[in-house]
Amino acid sequence: MPDIVRELSGPWPSLVGSVEGLTDDLEREFRFCQSVIRIEGQYRLGGNLKGGSSAMWVPSDEDAYRTYLAWKTVDGIPAIRSTQGYDRLRRLLGRNGIELVNGMSPGDDESLRQSERRGYVFELLFSIISCLPPSHLRNPMFRKIQIGGWGPDAAKASAFEGKTVILYDFAVSGARRTLAGLVLHELGHACEAGMQVIRRSRLEKLFRTVSNPETLIGLDFLLDGSNRRAYQHRVFEEFLAETYLIYASCGRRIHEMVSGFPDAARGAWAEIYSIFREIFDCREYD
Ligand SMILES: [Zn+2]
Repeated sequence: MPDIVRELSGPWPSLVGSVEGLTDDLEREFRFCQSVIRIEGQYRLGGNLKGGSSAMWVPSDEDAYRTYLAWKTVDGIPAIRSTQGYDRLRRLLGRNGIELVNGMSPGDDESLRQSERRGYVFELLFSIISCLPPSHLRNPMFRKIQIGGWGPDAAKASAFEGKTVILYDFAVSGARRTLAGLVLHELGHACEAGMQVIRRSRLEKLFRTVSNPETLIGLDFLLDGSNRRAYQHRVFEEFLAETYLIYASCGRRIHEMVSGFPDAARGAWAEIYSIFREIFDCREYD
C-alpha cells in the first residue's frame, strides 16, 4: 500500500509548532476540510458543510491564509492535474466493469479528467486499488466510484450506496490521510455488501466479543481513533468496513495492536484476522 495508507497505523502527527501560525484549533479545522481562501483581496475561513452540499465562510486574514497553504503542503490534498492518473485509474476500473463518474458534473467525464485539483485523488485511488486482490474488483456489489459532489445526507464525508463508492467534496479536498482512510472504509462497505452469508455470520459472532469500544481498533483519521471506535461499536456493518480498512492498511500489526486486550478479545481478533486473510485471498499487509 502507498505510504499515506501505511501511516494510518500510527498516530496522526500534529504540525502545531512546525507550521508557522498553526494552532490546535486551526489544525482541527484544516483536517476537517476547512480552508482559507482569498477572494477579491479578502480572506475567508470555512468550506464544505454536510459533505459539500453547502458551505459557510467567516472573515479571516493573510496570516491564516499563509498558515493554511503551509499546512496543505504537508497534510492537505495537493491541487494537481493528472490526466495520466485519471486514464490509468479508468483503465484499471474499466477492465473490471467499474465506472468512474464525476459527482460535481454528472456525465462530464472530460472535465473530471482535466480537473486542476483532482490528480492526487486519481493517483491515490489507483495505488490503493492496485494493491487489492483482483476478486475485490469483480465484486458485483461494487460497480462505480463517484468523485466529488455528495450523496446521502446521513453521511458527511463519503458513503457507499447503490453499489457506488461516493467520495464527497469533503473527502477529496481536505486532508490526504482522511481521504486514504475513507476510500478504504467505503471499499470495505462494498466488500461487506458482497460477503458470503456464512462468513458474515462468523464475523457477527466475533463482533459480539470485541464490540466494546475498549476492544475495538481505531485509526487516526477524519477526527481520531477514539471517534472511529465509537463509530463501530454499535453497528456491525461499520465494524466490517473499518476492519477492512485496518486489514488493508496495516493488517500485520493487528496482533500487536490488540496485545493489551483481555484474552477473549485477543482470541476473537486472531480469528477475525484469519477470516479477513481469506477475504483478501491470503494477501497480507504490513
Ligand atoms: Zn461506513
